[in-house]
Amino acid sequence: MSTSAERSVAIRSSFEPVIGLEVHVQLLTATKIFCSCSTRFGAPPNTNVCPVCLGMPGALPVLNQKAVEFATLAAMALNCRINETSIFARKNYFYPDLPKGYQISQYDKPLAEHGFIEVPTGEGKKSERKKIGITRVHLEEDAGKSLHEGFPGSDEKTAIDLNRTGVPLIEIVSEPEISSPDEAYEYLTRLKEIILYTGVSDCNMEEGSLRCDANVSVRPRGQKEFGTKTEIKNVNSFRFIREALEYEITRQIDVIESGGTVTQETRLYNANEGKTYGMRSKEQAHDYRYFPEPDLLPLVIDEKWRAEVARTLPELPEARRARMVKEYGITEYDAQVLTFSRSLADQFEEAARAAKNPKRVANLVQSELVGRLKAKNLEIEHSPISMRGVAASADLVGSGTISGKMLKDLYDLAFERGKDFPLVYEEEGRPQQSTDTSALEKIIDEVLAANPRQVEQYRGGKKTMLGFFVGQVMKASKGQASPQVVNELLTRKLG
Ligand code: ADP
Ligand code: MG
Ligand code: ZN
Repeated sequence: MSTSAERSVAIRSSFEPVIGLEVHVQLLTATKIFCSCSTRFGAPPNTNVCPVCLGMPGALPVLNQKAVEFATLAAMALNCRINETSIFARKNYFYPDLPKGYQISQYDKPLAEHGFIEVPTGEGKKSERKKIGITRVHLEEDAGKSLHEGFPGSDEKTAIDLNRTGVPLIEIVSEPEISSPDEAYEYLTRLKEIILYTGVSDCNMEEGSLRCDANVSVRPRGQKEFGTKTEIKNVNSFRFIREALEYEITRQIDVIESGGTVTQETRLYNANEGKTYGMRSKEQAHDYRYFPEPDLLPLVIDEKWRAEVARTLPELPEARRARMVKEYGITEYDAQVLTFSRSLADQFEEAARAAKNPKRVANLVQSELVGRLKAKNLEIEHSPISMRGVAASADLVGSGTISGKMLKDLYDLAFERGKDFPLVYEEEGRPQQSTDTSALEKIIDEVLAANPRQVEQYRGGKKTMLGFFVGQVMKASKGQASPQVVNELLTRKLG
């Protein structure tokens, strides 16, 4: 007989979630997509506007070439095929922050299709990878913003800031191929990383430069047809999206288990409570009455221009990590840390190539830098010790000029003073580890005298005892001695 808890686990695992994500990314162009207004974030409300983005009758949109270039670059980085012709359409709906009464977007002919993002999957992570399909990447304009606080009378009124209307966005729509909240998290992390590497967006979630809507349904394991989905909107961190999905999956299974049916609807996530709430059940009848935008010609991207954009595609994080593992003999984990951002990876590679031993640079990042950064709650990008600094310290240790212990002390000082390694090394008077053999010999004699039994063992053939003596001498010299010199002296004295 099984307990009810066991039964519930069995029932739960007999359902599987299906997730599809829609991600909006703001492109970093200086001007809007159809007019020359500035896209700057944080300008006083309603100052970056003109007749075009305010939707005045008769004002004509003109497509921003930079926006097309950025969108194309992003789509290529996401392994999409670029359509030679795509069409802008009007998506009609009423909302106070949408002055035209429609949003210019792309509908049946998007800019790009058939892409994918690879994510690590399964238990053993890293090793296994899964491709999650990207249905489409299309260009569209952003809407304005409703403000509910932060201005006089906000307790009674809502204000509208139209600075954001007409800011260029791409929408990246995934296939319903994501099979867990963890996988959704991975997908988003990879997506953001790829977009950041292309440089077309800052992906700043607080400022709304990256927004994600998560669609989720559940179905009995093994069933082909999808269940009814709900869409969770306006979640502002990847972690919350994962939480919201976890909650929503359990909620849907509970609904079905208790004999109900899931309603197709939009839901909001309350991060404080960890719950989703129904907002509106619009989506069944989403009748946007799309039609081609009569004021814009079809967008044609010819082979030549496409090739030009392709040439600006940087090496992407996944490929870069694989290369770095090979080139510097570092682990996947090292490579992960060192490719945290494109600029960090650039800095590392520049420094590592200049250093005598690139692997040592990577090791020091791992063993000395990462922990200190964590303790200070700093991202590696804001490290007081730069990659050049790490490389310089690696060379000093490599040449035996400073000991490992001295390096640690110098790193501590660098973090205390908020200064880079070479500067602190200068400030400390370019210290060198002691190679003063007379002082060392004295220490060695003392160590040997204090451990007669071990000396006997060594002389009796147990050569591995050497390590023990080196350790004792290093300890007695407070890490100041050069292990190399200690080794030599010891071998001589014992021999
Ligand atoms: P809509 O027309 O409601 O916007 P779409 O077909 O455009 O729906 O899909 C929007 C997103 O929802 C896509 O990312 C897609 O992968 C995902 N999706 C579609 N159907 C389902 C489903 N049954 N369960 C989970 N996700 C789904
Ligand atoms: Mg949708
Ligand atoms: Zn404008």
